[in-house]
Amino acid sequence: MDKNYDVIIAGAGPVGCVMAERFASVMNWKVLLIDKRDHVAGNCFDKQHDSGLLIHRYGPHYFRSNNKDLIDYLSQFTDWIPGNYYVKSSTNGELYPFPINLLTLRQFFKKPDLNAETAQQLLEEKRIPIENPANSEEFVLSRVGREMYEAFYLGYTLKQWAIHPKDLAPSVCGRIPVRLNEDERYVDHKYQLTPALGFTEMFKKMIDHPNIDLQLETDFNQIRHTVKPTKATIYTGPIDEYFDYKFGKLPWRSLEFEFKEESKEFSQPCVQINYPNDHDYTRTVEIKHVTGQKHRHTVISYEYPRAEGDPYYPIPMEENHHLYERYRTLAEQETKENDVFFCGRLAEYKYYNTDEVMELALKTFNTIKGKHGN
Ligand SMILES: Cc1cc2nc3c(=O)[nH]c(=O)nc-3n(C[C@H](O)[C@H](O)[C@H](O)COP(=O)(O)OP(=O)(O)OC[C@H]3O[C@@H](n4cnc5c(N)ncnc54)[C@H](O)[C@@H]3O)c2cc1C
Repeated sequence: MDKNYDVIIAGAGPVGCVMAERFASVMNWKVLLIDKRDHVAGNCFDKQHDSGLLIHRYGPHYFRSNNKDLIDYLSQFTDWIPGNYYVKSSTNGELYPFPINLLTLRQFFKKPDLNAETAQQLLEEKRIPIENPANSEEFVLSRVGREMYEAFYLGYTLKQWAIHPKDLAPSVCGRIPVRLNEDERYVDHKYQLTPALGFTEMFKKMIDHPNIDLQLETDFNQIRHTVKPTKATIYTGPIDEYFDYKFGKLPWRSLEFEFKEESKEFSQPCVQINYPNDHDYTRTVEIKHVTGQKHRHTVISYEYPRAEGDPYYPIPMEENHHLYERYRTLAEQETKENDVFFCGRLAEYKYYNTDEVMELALKTFNTIKGKHGN
């Protein structure tokens, strides 16, 4: 292995790829990019299923952003297709548009004439007045009332986290909007776009640069004491692992995915159906609605929350946050003393959307660039 790298990047996910590209093309640095998995793109990884259809291996990724500069930057590496992100929730034997919007309210309360004003009045009647909601249950009750809480939120949250909404911060369920218009889109962002050939192709093109050496199936722990970069290390793996779990393990919620091919063109009316109250899985995903592929068959992914397995979601509880803070103090010291920069969802024990984590990567890159007088 060439030992004269300017920077070593542990993890070839969105953060690792963006930073590798920037160091290589802006700073002309020699980059070693490694990942312990056998592919790039991190959790955004998509690949061809046996059927020939593209699947999102680690759960559906609906790319969205409000940041035009970010879209312009990524457009160097991909063309885009419109993000066709629509979700329904299956409850009480019916499929409802989700997040809750005017169409959901009309269907749920069997009031086809509701408009924004009358829907607002109806919600006022349903809401349970709680001045400062202290947890997710109180938050949802104070927003939409008990019937909708029980139909759409309670079961889903219990399945997803194995924690009662009473024990989760208000923000966990609070992130989901409630709209008093007929906008059925899953998210509100200005740009809702999908890489035309998929995420993996976009990231591969991003790191296709003569200054970047990519080494897959390589754990950072195997090389950390043998290869020393001359300028910096970027670490995007789990922060507790970096410090040998010195203060104990940070807890994560995991997932298992089951992919089933069906011999029909489409199996469900939109990309995602949530099952708050039935089945062991939380949602079914037919990503074909998003990738726009034409095929006689389709593939459905069933998503099962798990206590053990790969780290997917940091568990949003106070004590976990405190534990992370202890590691963060060590990380800050490591940055100061050894130029190791911790960036990304695993390194910061935080759920980030892909656009957010790439913005963060660009920001961290600029900090390092500034430090080196550019
Ligand atoms: C189920 C699910 C659905 C999601 N849906 C969306 C969505 O719809 N829209 C959206 O914008 N975002 C979504 N996200 C978030 C998105 O996946 C993340 O924002 C993004 O992947 C974070 O990038 P990252 O580089 O920080 O981490 P990752 O993508 O996790 O990449 C980190 C990489 O580091 C590697 N690594 C870890 N430790 C080591 C080590 N010791 N040595 C070498 N390599 C190592 C890992 O193998 C991994 O490839 C979703 C996430 C999940 C879990």
